[in-house]
Amino acid sequence: MSTAEFRRWVCDACGYIYNEAEGDPDSGLAPGTRYEDIPEDWQCPLCGLSKGDLRLLPEVAAAPAVRRPSAGKTGKASKCKGGDDYVVIVGAGIAGWSIAEAIRAHDQETPLLLISACEGISYPKPAISTAIAHGKGADDLAELDAESHAAQLGLEVRTETRVLKIDTNKRRLTTAKGGIQYGKLILALGAQQRELPLQGDAADSVLRVNDLMTYRKMRQRLDQGVKHVTILGAGLIGTEFAEDLSAGGYQVTVIDPTGHPLASLLPDSVAEQLQQQLQDKGVQWLFGNTLDSLEHDGDHLRATVSSGMAIETDLVISAAGLLPNTALAEKAGIAVNNGIATDSLMHTSVEDVYAIGDCASVEGKVFAYIEPIRRQAATIAADLQGRTEPFDSRPPLVRVKTPSFPLTVCPPDHPDEVSRVTHDGQPGRLDYYEGERLVGFVLSGEMAGTGANLYRSL
Ligand code: FE
Repeated sequence: MSTAEFRRWVCDACGYIYNEAEGDPDSGLAPGTRYEDIPEDWQCPLCGLSKGDLRLLPEVAAAPAVRRPSAGKTGKASKCKGGDDYVVIVGAGIAGWSIAEAIRAHDQETPLLLISACEGISYPKPAISTAIAHGKGADDLAELDAESHAAQLGLEVRTETRVLKIDTNKRRLTTAKGGIQYGKLILALGAQQRELPLQGDAADSVLRVNDLMTYRKMRQRLDQGVKHVTILGAGLIGTEFAEDLSAGGYQVTVIDPTGHPLASLLPDSVAEQLQQQLQDKGVQWLFGNTLDSLEHDGDHLRATVSSGMAIETDLVISAAGLLPNTALAEKAGIAVNNGIATDSLMHTSVEDVYAIGDCASVEGKVFAYIEPIRRQAATIAADLQGRTEPFDSRPPLVRVKTPSFPLTVCPPDHPDEVSRVTHDGQPGRLDYYEGERLVGFVLSGEMAGTGANLYRSL
């Protein structure tokens, strides 16, 4: 087989891509290792699903140099000002790069410009919450800089360029570095951690970690003699961070107003097991509490929670839930409903403007997980080519990366309509039924690696 025939496989649960050309050297798979030659006990390095759960990705044609006058600037962080024929993507997270890739899979001609407020580095975001245990720093997670990625895909990129305003009548973006014209606009603005109201002279020191840049900041702070970390929020990110930091030797306290970790995702019986497993690893849970104030106290911080209890800590990380970034769209008169409102074709309320990923709310629902992003990208790419492939808003497949108690969850879409929850005779498996129809499941412990096939059968 020639190198041209190397294939790529995706882990739908976490977005990891197994590229045969690159292999997975960390797991002992040399570059060039074919999918068929991967041992059966290999696991997704990001989330632990099994080989059989990977899905073959459609081929992306190798991007030729863009056949345009601006070709010389392709790949460089250019001063490209767009044009009426341009598809302009705002945002360089997984959603931004995924839509660029989906468009280029079928269309090498349309000029594409990707604009990023940050450096635009590509990295596997789910790996952020297990990096310490894997001995990886922030820089080890970076896969590709914006210029190289853009060159691969045959598009133009403008990094560290913040979009300040969208004029949907003139199809024009205002940035701090000049105006940009678009024909079609795709908003991939992402989300940010919710900011919690907080008193005290150290309230500003709370870190909200949701991307590589803020993660790098967190690791820098951890290296400055931190012994105890307080995490606000026992959702997916907070719980994964708790185990990872604990594995890295830090003392960890998690504060959450609910009664269990992942309370919105797990039934109590399973959440209690997760809670116990992490507690056995040394994680301290403060449920039924919120953080009221954070104050400097000598070399440390003093965190006072709503019950009145005070703890000494060195670093507070907020993982209190994601809020879609909608301000830019809202200011432009684009309809917002939780996220930037779209129909099932990812159209916003304004013609030729799309939204994708964590910033988008598809028919009222925000899909803040990795798996749906690629499907949303396929929907937009098809629409741009005049094909109609509506986004199927089925419940997501969520992989909880807590090695001491791994979980694979497909939360039922309408929890109120679940008529039956059954163990199916197997420990580590819970099935949700609406009537006779399987509508969701929770797999835990050793069962957790087997979720993707069950998911496809829903
Ligand atoms: Fe994975």
